[in-house]
Amino acid sequence: MRQFVLCITIFCLLCTYTRINAATTVDSLVGCLRSKGVLNYTTSGSPFYSTALDFSMQNLRFTEAGVPKPAVIILPSTAQEVQKAWTCMLRGGWALRVRNGGHSYEGLSSSASAPFAIIDLINMHKITVNVQKKTAWIEAGVRIGELYHAIASQSSNRLGFPAGTCSTVGMSGQIMGGGYGMLSRKYGVAADRVLQAQVIDGNGKLIKRVSTSNPDLFWALRGGGGGAWGIVVAWKLKLVDLPETITTFSLWKTGKQVITDLVYKWQTIAPKAPPELFIAIYMAGISYTGSPDMGASFYGQYWGTINETLALLNKIYPELGLSESDCKQGNWMQAATTMAGLSDPDALLNRQQSSRNYFKGKSDFVSKPLTKAALSAAYDIMVKNTKGWMIFEPYGGVISRIPSSAIAFPHREGRLFMIQYQAVWAEDSNSSESNLIEWLRGLYSYMAPFATYTPSRAAYVNYIDLDLGDGMGAGKSYFGANFVRLVEIKARFDPSDVFNQPQSVPVTM
Ligand SMILES: Cc1cc2nc3c(=O)[nH]c(=O)nc-3n(C[C@H](O)[C@H](O)[C@H](O)COP(=O)(O)OP(=O)(O)OC[C@H]3O[C@@H](n4cnc5c(N)ncnc54)[C@H](O)[C@@H]3O)c2cc1C
Repeated sequence: MRQFVLCITIFCLLCTYTRINAATTVDSLVGCLRSKGVLNYTTSGSPFYSTALDFSMQNLRFTEAGVPKPAVIILPSTAQEVQKAWTCMLRGGWALRVRNGGHSYEGLSSSASAPFAIIDLINMHKITVNVQKKTAWIEAGVRIGELYHAIASQSSNRLGFPAGTCSTVGMSGQIMGGGYGMLSRKYGVAADRVLQAQVIDGNGKLIKRVSTSNPDLFWALRGGGGGAWGIVVAWKLKLVDLPETITTFSLWKTGKQVITDLVYKWQTIAPKAPPELFIAIYMAGISYTGSPDMGASFYGQYWGTINETLALLNKIYPELGLSESDCKQGNWMQAATTMAGLSDPDALLNRQQSSRNYFKGKSDFVSKPLTKAALSAAYDIMVKNTKGWMIFEPYGGVISRIPSSAIAFPHREGRLFMIQYQAVWAEDSNSSESNLIEWLRGLYSYMAPFATYTPSRAAYVNYIDLDLGDGMGAGKSYFGANFVRLVEIKARFDPSDVFNQPQSVPVTM
């Protein structure tokens, strides 16, 4: 009993010490920020803290009480303020999380296991478009929608950029993982179109022209994963030419057999189609037809009028049965708006997603078409759950013609398509989170024989998945043959591993 009381006393003393120590440390970080004139920050317990923390968190799993929260959130407005904030954090030995759009599937920009602070770039979203030179400088807090809006409106819809579909995703997080979207078959991933980057290194120094002064780092930044290579404060992008007219389309099909047949054919059509055509498939279990079944949306866009789209699709994929009522014709801004699930182009400027949920994601690449039997068996797993889905996103075209070693993003030649798997639920969901995640893992495990291995099972770092292990295990999946070079660059540029997250590239093999 005496021993127990002694233990409790020591434990309480330790708690008190830890509290005092943590408070003192927060005070000294805040003192340092104030002494350097960085005044836009919020600390745990302050009125604005929860709003600042939650605003950009796309995956609500990481807003929950048990998830470690930052002691301080710093919201700089300039690269110099980022430098000063980072210098204060280095002095106090704080772990760093840099946040742009906050869409990390595993909440890696908003949580950490050691005491940490977030540098949130939300106030750094200036965009400067040079229409003549077809370039844009963007600050590192820019999100996809605001970039699309700025480029399209300033170039009268003749220029664009090949990044993702969801308008609230951050450009920095996206570029550092690759950045795949509806223009990728025509122009590659977002990272393929980066001309320059400005980065703050582990000593707080601002590197203004990374492409020329640190070409290896520049290579790593383009697809080598977020949170591992310094704090990017700005990017220069090469914009792409666009046609006057783009047609978007989407049609919903139901029935397991119908979908099996359509998807089987899609595998031979979508990756080989002209690069101006993009067709992806969203597939999910449904129950509204009375008994468990499959539903699928075939959606995408084509560079041309509705008539031209119908003529092409009905020639190469007549089974789909695309009709005029499934299509919408407009310019690129309208196409980007529709594909982001929005109705008004100005909604591209919204920086928070109108609906957010709890989710877990995984990914695969496929290099050989699945048989009808394999697809059908996957659907047998999917019909058991209406809170999960698979998306098949086509490769081929330019994305596959760029050499795998051109930048750190490696998924190129031979890939037919990428698969994204998700289990999604709401707070008041009656299905338990663990059951849904187990269902997702079961589906992923079933798909193992059909996936691409390089030699580890390939995965997309932007659909980051902590099930793949630490930086060593996951790195081989995310980066394939580029992993070795990434480790060498990491060892040279950040030998103390100050820029880290659970799956960042390690400093040694
Ligand atoms: C709803 C939704 C839709 C999506 N759609 C697509 C899509 O169409 N195509 C696609 O390719 N991907 C897509 N993604 C995945 C998305 O590209 C990745 O999740 C991406 O990493 C998110 O970037 P972010 O800036 O929003 O996230 P964040 O969570 O802010 O950042 C992601 C990672 O990058 C780091 N990071 C961010 N900014 C910086 C910086 N300036 N310097 C250093 N490190 C930084 C963070 O610390 C973190 O580790 C989607 C994700 C979601 C949730």
